[in-house]
Amino acid sequence: MNVHEYQAKSILAQYGVPTPAGGLALTPIEARQVAQGLDADRFVVKAQVHAGGRGKGGGIRVVNTVDEVQAAAKEILWMNLVTHQTGPEGKLVRKVWVEGATDIARELYVAVVLDRGAERLAVIASPYGGMDIEEVAAKNPEAIFTTWVEPGQPLWPFQARRLLFSCGLQGRQVTIGTAILKGLVQLAWEKEATLAEINPLAVTGGGELVALDAKINFDDSALKRHPEIADLADPEETDPLEREATAQGLNYIRLDGTVGTMVNGAGLAMATMDVIKMAGAEPANFLDVGGGASEEMVATGFEVILSDPNVEAILINIFGGILRCDTLAAGVVGAARKVGIEVPLVVRLEGTNVEEGRKILAESDLSFEVAGSISEAAAKIALVAGGAS
Ligand code: ADP
Ligand code: MG
Repeated sequence: MNVHEYQAKSILAQYGVPTPAGGLALTPIEARQVAQGLDADRFVVKAQVHAGGRGKGGGIRVVNTVDEVQAAAKEILWMNLVTHQTGPEGKLVRKVWVEGATDIARELYVAVVLDRGAERLAVIASPYGGMDIEEVAAKNPEAIFTTWVEPGQPLWPFQARRLLFSCGLQGRQVTIGTAILKGLVQLAWEKEATLAEINPLAVTGGGELVALDAKINFDDSALKRHPEIADLADPEETDPLEREATAQGLNYIRLDGTVGTMVNGAGLAMATMDVIKMAGAEPANFLDVGGGASEEMVATGFEVILSDPNVEAILINIFGGILRCDTLAAGVVGAARKVGIEVPLVVRLEGTNVEEGRKILAESDLSFEVAGSISEAAAKIALVAGGAS
């Protein structure tokens, strides 16, 4: 689960990380009032959306007066903010965060991220903060420093010091920076965060360290243990199709390709997306209808796929086990009758009750192609949904 910058900063503050004072505003007038209450001579107005790259996209403005705060908030609120993380469709800005502007001498990058391969937390730091860390990693990999933390252990001061020296910090800054990194690690353990990132961690003109941006991702599967974190969810930031699917108990993630997919089992769904890509097309979604899906759930899944206007074709890949092929077929036929299918359909069915399933499909008035294997299915789908070579 993702949270907004302002929520992430409030959590960081609980772990002793210095952040600028500020307040949330839903209207330009409120933004002005927040600024009036701040002890600052310049202000920053920041779009609150679940995406980074806001600065480059025009969602962040540094201004000098409360009048300018109000004017900037007027421009940013309700804008459709497009950044490299929102995709071309952008995100509607519903709230802004107003904080005092910091006098920045240098911008660092620091983060704690769950390193699944290493089965530990990785603590990462770079003297090149403020920009895309992916770009730094590509162009300047030697400027990214990493250390690892054993499960349940704190970050040891010597580890923190080594990272901070590598970023060019000295003296008191190293002491403050060590406390910040230790706080991030403690946060990640206690709140079961998979990412806690500060980019930039500013070194101010006066030599202080301040977190100017914050991003935290939490492990969805652990949210039950952290109701105070689950409460921070912003349903408006979730794709409406994903919201609908989740409410129906479906495991659906929207992607930006053109091939809708309906698969049972997360592993098979991932493999299906891989073969679609290998065949030269792009999946429009991940959908695992699960082992015990009912006919209604299959029908709902189908409706969700069809509600995505980018979908040009649908690939159904079912290996019937607990979810029997006839149940799946009946669900698909039911949904097709209800919502109407105007896009090509490729079906690959195997496993329990496959003959009954094929029969239901064949006897329906649905037009579809049958594929004997997963690679044949992907090749057929790529022919109708773009990109086949
Ligand atoms: P994003 O990463 O989404 O672009 P940031 O919060 O990192 O958003 O802001 C982008 C840039 O704006 C920062 O790298 C920093 O240079 C500047 N900035 C952000 N907050 C402040 C602040 N409080 N004071 C001064 N500059 C800021
Ligand atoms: Mg940032």
